[in-house]
Amino acid sequence: MTEIEIPSDHPRRVSLETRERIIEGHQDNIVATAGLLAHGRGEAFDYLIGEKTNDQAMKAIDAAVASMLLADHPVISVNGNACSLVPEELVELSEICGAPLEINLFYYRKEREDAIVTALKKAGAKEILGTIERPSETIPELSSNRRKVDSDGIGSADLVVVPLEDGDRTEALKRIGKFVVTIDLNPMSRTSVYSDITIVDNIVRAMPLMVERSRDLKHEPREKLEAIVKAFDNRKNLETAIERIIEHLEKQAAGFANITKEENR
Ligand code: ATP
Ligand code: MG
Repeated sequence: MTEIEIPSDHPRRVSLETRERIIEGHQDNIVATAGLLAHGRGEAFDYLIGEKTNDQAMKAIDAAVASMLLADHPVISVNGNACSLVPEELVELSEICGAPLEINLFYYRKEREDAIVTALKKAGAKEILGTIERPSETIPELSSNRRKVDSDGIGSADLVVVPLEDGDRTEALKRIGKFVVTIDLNPMSRTSVYSDITIVDNIVRAMPLMVERSRDLKHEPREKLEAIVKAFDNRKNLETAIERIIEHLEKQAAGFANITKEENR
């Protein structure tokens, strides 16, 4: 239940509704308390990029989806924030790309796992990996609970999608040779930098676009998908993402300068 009513013409309605969803997810045990802080960090970066999906993020979305369609065994890692914000899209993307969903929690509690399973099932998920009773193995050199991965999921995956992920885990996944795709609003986070493909955008905008693009690209020949992935350079992608932030801030600054000039007239 949403606790506050946000007027439909409120300028920051989507952002406030998204925040409400995270708060509800926290009340329902889906989102960890630290997840609230991570969300706030994301909101700050969303302000800096102008709360819109830009051309560079669209390129990264295409590369991400193409790489998922090309992978032999892609897996989508699901944490509390991703589950509370985009459960239906996670299920749809998983089905279109043949990429199972695997629950992976930094702060493991059985109630959280159960709440996430319930939410994903409600969104249409048929199979969910990573739960406590599943066969598991450990990622070396990672000291949190998240070193545990499903043997049929991330354990044997060639590509892992890790939206809103912590840097330590991304680094560990890279160390064991996985191709890593992420969605992260902060182009300077360690996850953004370690990943092979980083979509610098809000998950609430990026995920529906990934679903749409995966439907389109699924019918394209392998060679075309390979060309999209080959042409993508994550270092350049992150540089451009930062340039887009600078451009946006310069526009904002120019806007304020104009207002000040008007006032002084
Ligand atoms: P890192 O560990 O990668 O250096 P961090 O410690 O700042 O980064 P974490 O909490 O570990 O961050 O990971 C969460 C990441 O997800 C942050 O970079 C945050 O900006 C990003 N994030 C939060 N909410 C969203 C969202 N709705 N969409 C996209 N990214 C988000
Ligand atoms: Mg971190």
